[in-house]
Amino acid sequence: MNFGFTEEQELLRSEVRKFLDDQCPMEQVRKIMESESGYSAELWTQLAELGWLGLTIPEEYGGAGLGWVDLVVLLEETGRSLFPSPFISTTLTAAAILEAGNDEQKKAWLPALANGSAIGTLALLEQVDVLSADGITLLAKTDGDDFILTGEKSFVNDAGAATHFVVAFRTGEGAEDLGLAVIERDAEGVNAQSFPGIDQTKRVGSLSLENVRVASDAVLGTAGQAWPLISRLLDRGAIAVTAEMVGAAEGALYMTVQFAKDRIQFGDPIGRYQGVKHPLAEMYVDVESFKSMVYYAAWTIDESPGEAERSVSLAKAYATDAFTRIGIDGVQLHGAVGYTAEYDIQLYLKRSKWARPMFGDADHHYERVASLGGL
Ligand SMILES: Cc1cc2nc3c(=O)[nH]c(=O)nc-3n(C[C@H](O)[C@H](O)[C@H](O)COP(=O)(O)OP(=O)(O)OC[C@H]3O[C@@H](n4cnc5c(N)ncnc54)[C@H](O)[C@@H]3O)c2cc1C
Repeated sequence: MNFGFTEEQELLRSEVRKFLDDQCPMEQVRKIMESESGYSAELWTQLAELGWLGLTIPEEYGGAGLGWVDLVVLLEETGRSLFPSPFISTTLTAAAILEAGNDEQKKAWLPALANGSAIGTLALLEQVDVLSADGITLLAKTDGDDFILTGEKSFVNDAGAATHFVVAFRTGEGAEDLGLAVIERDAEGVNAQSFPGIDQTKRVGSLSLENVRVASDAVLGTAGQAWPLISRLLDRGAIAVTAEMVGAAEGALYMTVQFAKDRIQFGDPIGRYQGVKHPLAEMYVDVESFKSMVYYAAWTIDESPGEAERSVSLAKAYATDAFTRIGIDGVQLHGAVGYTAEYDIQLYLKRSKWARPMFGDADHHYERVASLGGL
């Protein structure tokens, strides 16, 4: 593995950075997070035109055909800006279709996801704290070759914005008798909405299904054998969220360092005191450590899939604990103003609270690492 980013990846990073600084500075983030939809349709179209929505979609389906390390570069920057958009959800939807869809399904959905006319999301689990096959209880009824689904999926990211849902369902009593299908928002019996959460830059909601008919051409892969695919999607979700955590944690750190330089107390910048310097140094070490783990995990997704489960779990576990501390320390080091709405640091603390359980908390991932053979 080459530990440095390529020239192209650095170019991508500076393009994304420039775009977000120009088009979505923090005042704009605040406006979008307070809007009903939670994302900007205008910026979404621009992301599509820049080719970012189709970054990991092959060129033959309208994308750029790049890999997960390239995606991490982009996600670090969207995380740093707390950019509100259904980007991760749409990327994961494309990953599901790309991995398990047949050629017709890829032609039907991937170009629309790449050009921004479709917004996708995953609706896998009913309980967010059970990230295993047992977490999927929605039992499908069969009607000829079709499946009929009735039930509710919780904790569906970007549910309010999505036009397409990748839905997991149970095909039988066996532990891993699971299927995965693409369901369109305007299909009969579908109802989806987002709710306000702790982090308004991220929208989480629910998907309700009432006798929704799933024809065989909407099923991804083989019904009844979808668990390995779902498990890989959960890993991709974990690493995508963790890549945004890298950028957000670094953003919180630099914001706090700047505050420590600017805030004068007793005639000196507060950053001169060890009581402030030491936690800042610890934040820095945490960011650098989990950054390396995230890069490695993203690399395994494309290049060494056999190692992906363990490397993703290590990265998400460490980052979850570290970013939680960084969010709290960032507010603490700002003193009392850190709690006020005017200062941006509290938005980063809220992001750390959102990211903590997303695609598995630290306990879940440390336990998985242990079950896979330990640290
Ligand atoms: C919205 C709001 C409401 C408030 N309400 C009240 C109230 O009801 N009652 C009240 O009494 N006060 C109130 N305050 C004032 C608040 O308690 C003080 O602001 C607080 O004591 C911390 O001071 P500071 O925010 O100026 O932090 P700063 O002095 O700027 O310090 C920032 C950080 O650096 C650390 N630090 C500073 N100097 C050192 C040092 N030498 N060594 C180690 N660490 C250091 C601090 O612990 C803190 O974490 C309020 C402030 C705000 C903004």
